[in-house]
Amino acid sequence: MSKIIDGKAFAASLREQIASRVAKLKQQHQLTPGLAVVLVGEDPASEVYVRNKAKQTVEVGMASVEHKLDENTPESELLSLIETLNADAAIHGILVQLPLPKHINESKVLDAIHYEKDVDGFHLTNVGLLSTGGEGVVPCTPLGSIMMLKDRLGSLSGKNAVVVGRSNIVGKPMASLLLQESCTVTIAHSRTENLADVCRGADILVAAVGRPEMIPGDWIKPGAAVIDVGINRIERDGKKKLVGDVDFASAEAVAGAITPVPGGVGPMTIACLLHNTVQQACRQHNIDMPSA
Ligand code: NDP
Repeated sequence: MSKIIDGKAFAASLREQIASRVAKLKQQHQLTPGLAVVLVGEDPASEVYVRNKAKQTVEVGMASVEHKLDENTPESELLSLIETLNADAAIHGILVQLPLPKHINESKVLDAIHYEKDVDGFHLTNVGLLSTGGEGVVPCTPLGSIMMLKDRLGSLSGKNAVVVGRSNIVGKPMASLLLQESCTVTIAHSRTENLADVCRGADILVAAVGRPEMIPGDWIKPGAAVIDVGINRIERDGKKKLVGDVDFASAEAVAGAITPVPGGVGPMTIACLLHNTVQQACRQHNIDMPSA
């Protein structure tokens, strides 16, 4: 088996499963899951993400609604749009593309989304459900990472897992998921002492830092599974390039399994967004998720 965990292929197969579930929901329950994506302003990277999300939503058979608001939209107007979407029976998931312009309070907006229509897993109720082992919605990037780990390793029980990064959107939820799988979890961050030694103890190493190629191969335990969440844009030899937080060339020589950048965790994120939308549609209608 190749050492490389192919996130692109994994995401494609997840999208196929989602499409088959959506077809069953339409056929058996006359239910078409709908995802609304809200973009405020004209950040070019966000516009690309939103376009990709909408395209993939339609490709799996779901309904996609886009709301593009002006950069100067008042917070109250955004909140009232969210209220309308919360009340719209055709919309099962609401995603507000981050970052928001500075005059808008991000957490106020995220918490205004009804937790049953939250597909990012950022609503405080879903954060609480994840940390107490309840049935909430899980943030997309950690969800995609844990799916790939379980697919590759089977049971994760008893393994030493180190997550480098403690953000609310990646590091902390990733640590909660690994704990749910009965790993022994260490969360490292910018104040961690002897980070290299902490990483060397990991059977599973998750890097979510945002520093290009910070983790070299000699920080990795031979045979460890490495999930590189980092997406860093760098320039090398006059060319623009995407790299992760792990130095792929030296890490690949030591690791037992590793996600590349690009083509690892990245493609799983949108696939998991679609998965979360289907899950929320089923919850709202009290239907068990159909088999794929
Ligand atoms: P944040 O900036 O919110 O968090 C970074 C974390 O890394 C912080 O906890 C910080 O520690 C820690 N850190 C920073 N420097 C060091 C260091 N030298 N040693 C150890 N820890 C350090 O980033 P995100 O969690 O939002 O994202 C992390 C990376 O993942 C980014 O590259 C981002 O682009 C990528 N990403 C990829 C996604 C995907 O779809 N694949 C989705 C989301 C993010 P402290 O808390 O102490 O400051």
